[in-house]
Amino acid sequence: MITASPFLRRDPAQVEPWVETCGQIRCLIEEKDGAAGEVHQVQIQNAKLHYHERTDEFYYVIDGHGTMILDDETIELHKGVVVYVPRGMKHKAFGDLTALIVCVPRGVMSDVHELE
Ligand SMILES: [Zn+2]
Repeated sequence: MITASPFLRRDPAQVEPWVETCGQIRCLIEEKDGAAGEVHQVQIQNAKLHYHERTDEFYYVIDGHGTMILDDETIELHKGVVVYVPRGMKHKAFGDLTALIVCVPRGVMSDVHELE
């Protein structure tokens, strides 16, 4: 018999936020949950330039607008936009944004390399 993994339901309102590289973060699905990836809700105002050695990130802008720097390129962000940030690419976002960030594989918190 195959035993299904337990599912997780998280309400951001019940997850305590804290401040890290990108802004105020709520870890909705985190490393210790054991899923393939992680899901974070982040309120970004002025992130620090950083990269991840082994983590791909997918940003989905839930609200607000802003700008993102990806290596030497600058892109505009607004509600609904999705950005794939490949591992190894330097990036930072700023403005007034709320984003859902999906990180694959899990373990991004020990894979943040700040450059400023
Ligand atoms: Zn990042």
